[in-house]
Amino acid sequence: MAQEVRGVVAHGKGKPVSVETVVVPDPGPGEAVVQVQACGVCHTDLHYREGGINDEFPFLLGHEAAGVVESVGEGVTDVAPGDFVILNWRAVCGQCRACKKGKPWYCFATHNATQKMTLASGQELSPALGIGAFVEKTLVASGQCTKVNPAVTPQIAGLLGCGVMAGIGAAINTGGVGRGDSIAVIGCGGVGDAAIAGANLAGASTIIAVDMDDRKLEWAKGFGATHTINARSTDPVEAIKELTGGFGADVVVDAVGRPETWKQAFFARDLAGTVVLVGVPTPDLMAPEIPMIEYFGRGGQLKSSWYGDCLPERDFPMLVDLHLQGRLPLEKFVSEEIGLDDIEAAFDKMHKGDVLRSVVVL
Ligand SMILES: [Zn+2]
Ligand SMILES: [Zn+2]
Repeated sequence: MAQEVRGVVAHGKGKPVSVETVVVPDPGPGEAVVQVQACGVCHTDLHYREGGINDEFPFLLGHEAAGVVESVGEGVTDVAPGDFVILNWRAVCGQCRACKKGKPWYCFATHNATQKMTLASGQELSPALGIGAFVEKTLVASGQCTKVNPAVTPQIAGLLGCGVMAGIGAAINTGGVGRGDSIAVIGCGGVGDAAIAGANLAGASTIIAVDMDDRKLEWAKGFGATHTINARSTDPVEAIKELTGGFGADVVVDAVGRPETWKQAFFARDLAGTVVLVGVPTPDLMAPEIPMIEYFGRGGQLKSSWYGDCLPERDFPMLVDLHLQGRLPLEKFVSEEIGLDDIEAAFDKMHKGDVLRSVVVL
């Protein structure tokens, strides 16, 4: 029988969100209902509310979540009621051209629930990133549930479902950072700091954090930054070169996603180095003008990182285990714990850069 629960809904462009009754159907074939225990507040949620993703209002916000599987539909064998899971937005299909080429982290046909959650009026909701998790219970495709060690607290685990995975993956999966490498990370919010933590985990020996806010640079040190640069007072390109023997970093991650920062990343890397764009640009932004000879002459790779090029089944359990071993300080991303009624205030704090992550606890 369908259940009525409380959830956070965005009704229109720029309108404050509200807590509403959400109707969650029983899981159908290939689906699962998950009792959400915690869900982080991400920039993407605000972006949905601002109408910056699409116009399919009303949205059920929230997508960085962990919880316990309550029930599963017909044919579901990969998870069972009682399993502790992190929700992911890359339930790979195994059938599309990317999957068939053996590159499932690019999967172009990821699975979501087939049925719709609705408002009490019957109006269908669009769940953020195919999840929708600022809600007591949510309906997803079973492949969106990734089982991990239940010893981790849900507040921490949920963050791996989006921003923290994007950052760690940008460094390790997309950038290929390894032992002894140098890396610079521009923008030290949640995603940038996760890239720093990932580089630290992978054995990078020089980890340079770049931001315009000294508070954020202090946070970056806590995740393993060996050097910090305040770009308000210092030219980051020159400073990164100075810290890397005059050459530039092996990998530069742009966690901001603006032409200025991408251009800095381009020029702050070593010859044959790699730029990783993980900050999401807004549609109005244009790539910076750079002489074409510089593209050729510097060689290397200019990459984008979608969701940290992660494979949830491979990466989430591993990162949870490394955290539980004390090797990945994911707890430092949780700035505060809040309730479903506090989302607007959390958007405000996020916008001002006062928090790394506010996490809704249910
Ligand atoms: Zn696929
Ligand atoms: Zn997110």
